[in-house]
Amino acid sequence: MSISTRTLVALLLSASVACDGGSGSNGGDRTSRPVSLDDTGAADTGGADTGSAPEPEPEGEEEERTCGGSPVSVRSVVDVEDGFAAVTVHVDEGTRSLQLVSEADDSDLYVMVERVYDPSGEVVLDYTDFHHSSGPFELYTAAVVPWKSTNVLNWPVSAEDAPLAPGDWTVTLYAMEADGQWADATVAVEAWQVSDDDPSAGCVPVRVVLSSDVAGDPALVRAVEGAWDVAADIWAAAGVELILAETVESALGREVPAPSDGSEAYRSLSAVEEEAMLTLVVGEGIDSDTAGLLGQSGGIPGSLSASPHAVVALGWLMHAGSDGQLSGDEIDMMGATIAHELGHYAGLAHPVQFDEHYDVVGFDGLPDTEECGDVHACMDVLSDNLMFPYMTCGGSGCQDDLSDDQASVLNLFTGTR
Ligand SMILES: [Zn+2]
Repeated sequence: MSISTRTLVALLLSASVACDGGSGSNGGDRTSRPVSLDDTGAADTGGADTGSAPEPEPEGEEEERTCGGSPVSVRSVVDVEDGFAAVTVHVDEGTRSLQLVSEADDSDLYVMVERVYDPSGEVVLDYTDFHHSSGPFELYTAAVVPWKSTNVLNWPVSAEDAPLAPGDWTVTLYAMEADGQWADATVAVEAWQVSDDDPSAGCVPVRVVLSSDVAGDPALVRAVEGAWDVAADIWAAAGVELILAETVESALGREVPAPSDGSEAYRSLSAVEEEAMLTLVVGEGIDSDTAGLLGQSGGIPGSLSASPHAVVALGWLMHAGSDGQLSGDEIDMMGATIAHELGHYAGLAHPVQFDEHYDVVGFDGLPDTEECGDVHACMDVLSDNLMFPYMTCGGSGCQDDLSDDQASVLNLFTGTR
């Protein structure tokens, strides 16, 4: 693989993962029209916003909820020599999905999946199928992209892939330096497996971690809970129940770290591996060079193992109007952001990706999401899709559609049981 290809895909992926759920708009009339695509999301102090905090709800009993049937994992260590290693994973009978999390001991390295071989030796995933020197890319899984020192492969990705056969699977990995040179590395590998009697329905437990300023504001806590219910409704339409397993307060400040940048605080916050829960971090904003982030996922898909990237982050203030308060419409928008970013974490890419000129540069590789030629055509056919890269809220709420193939990705995520 050439350096230039590696750099290209890294750039493209960073554009995808640094998903905004849209460049957020703060305009007071935002919810009456789609967010304009050239909105930089910079704080807008103009415009009236009559939003107000939601009515208090009666205090209920705190109840911890679980999904049951957690995935199980096996850890090992592999030596990458001259940039290459092969990992063998024994898949048990009845296993529905496999997630392989590979983390190099040097955080400056990049780890990617080269190929996946099923027990018969057939190649079922090949990075060369996705690395083109020209034309739109297909981000079927970011596992084949050198993005970080942590790599996450979920298999199968979608209903397009054959069901997981029992036996010995082989995954080959590359490790490289930032300049594309092959690297020696010690890679910690954790292989997760989950069984599931009903592949068309599932459950994902999520732990919500509030920054201290959010946790200290009862109106904000209620707004987050309201947004959570919106997100859960969106996912339920795809047959996956989002369970709010617990809400905890953390010492995180107002600006929470960007999951794409990674943080050792996130490694400890995401260390809930025995439950294989996802972690949603909520702060006032997300500390990122990208202005106006509504939310961000730490991968496509994200990791079930603890890692500096193993969270989804939500910034509430970008959802609030110029009054800095969250109205009902803005809480709905925050719910769409949560559903969108958790969608990335479960493995969904944007159905279309634009560059900074709003030219189409990529698709998600799923057969049943539309491919479109320019931004206007894409708005026509995809702006109601949950994973459209920009927030498009209107009179009937925000985008919430998921195609059958997208629903299959959510159901085949190894964190779904
Ligand atoms: Zn996104």
